[in-house]
Amino acid sequence: MDSTELVDRLLRGERRALARLLTRVEDGSVDTLREVVRLLHPHTGNAMIVGLTGSPGVGKSTLTSALVTQWRSQGKRVAVLAVDPSSPFSGGALLGDRVRMQDHALDDGVFIRSMASRGHLGGLSWATPQALLVLDAAGFDIVMVETVGVGQAEVEIASSADTTVVALAPGMGDSIQAAKAGILEIADVFVVNKADRDGAERAVRELREMQKLGHGEWLAPIRKTVASTGDGIAELAEAIGEHYAWLTEEGRLDRRRLDRARVQVRELALGTVRGRFLELGQGDLVDELAAAVAARDTDPYTASDKLVASLDA
Ligand code: GDP
Repeated sequence: MDSTELVDRLLRGERRALARLLTRVEDGSVDTLREVVRLLHPHTGNAMIVGLTGSPGVGKSTLTSALVTQWRSQGKRVAVLAVDPSSPFSGGALLGDRVRMQDHALDDGVFIRSMASRGHLGGLSWATPQALLVLDAAGFDIVMVETVGVGQAEVEIASSADTTVVALAPGMGDSIQAAKAGILEIADVFVVNKADRDGAERAVRELREMQKLGHGEWLAPIRKTVASTGDGIAELAEAIGEHYAWLTEEGRLDRRRLDRARVQVRELALGTVRGRFLELGQGDLVDELAAAVAARDTDPYTASDKLVASLDA
């Protein structure tokens, strides 16, 4: 089936089209990706994109499931994209601990998908934004992207989200790690999960102390939850909603999206140019120019100008 047909079906609300498009975005060639994005883009921009990140074991899956329940009770349609940067597996609906998400398996208003990222040419940042486009175009009110907080990857993913939630748990040395990884800067909302355990108050205090060292226009609220029982989940959902409402005021969301679009366009253009240079780099022209520079027949600047000029040819 061609991509136009698939996108039509997606817009009509067909689940299978949704799953197939996601697979296409994950596994497809650059050309496929281009076409899918071109077709989808006009139908996007309506979903609230919520990022959730945190170290393994803090309770992200449990939190996600509880938030889904909360939003469903308000009649919102919710999609979840669980990105695991360490997993070589992909495409499955319910992998490993996603089994917990079976709570929502029979609910038409919920869609859950796990996505691995290893092996992708452009790394994590490549497929995720396109997968988010698919879910946005499919008409979900809320799209959650859940990632394990390890390194640069989740920072990149957070940049695709409107509201980023950083999850911590007591006694994991998390807050300090978070500061190191620069996660503090990306948090719009903090959640200290496992508040039934000792040390939750302390984690909250540590976060508050760190926030005193500096924050932007928005002071990220800190919420305590017990995801496994649902305690505090309504308040967490409310805090997420408040941040999103704040974003939509005074054109902040539009500005954020504009910034994101600018980065994206530049990155894609740079990628294309880099790709063409790499092709060129193996060609006769480079050999020729290199020989001329080595022989002192020309200088490196003049040679590089010639190389750049040949890109237009
Ligand atoms: P993830 O790796 O961040 O996705 O964490 P999970 O959601 O898989 O949770 C890790 C473990 O913590 C599981 O055994 C959960 O049942 C448990 N868990 C999650 N939330 C809570 C909580 O609020 N309190 C307690 N005591 N355990 C929790």
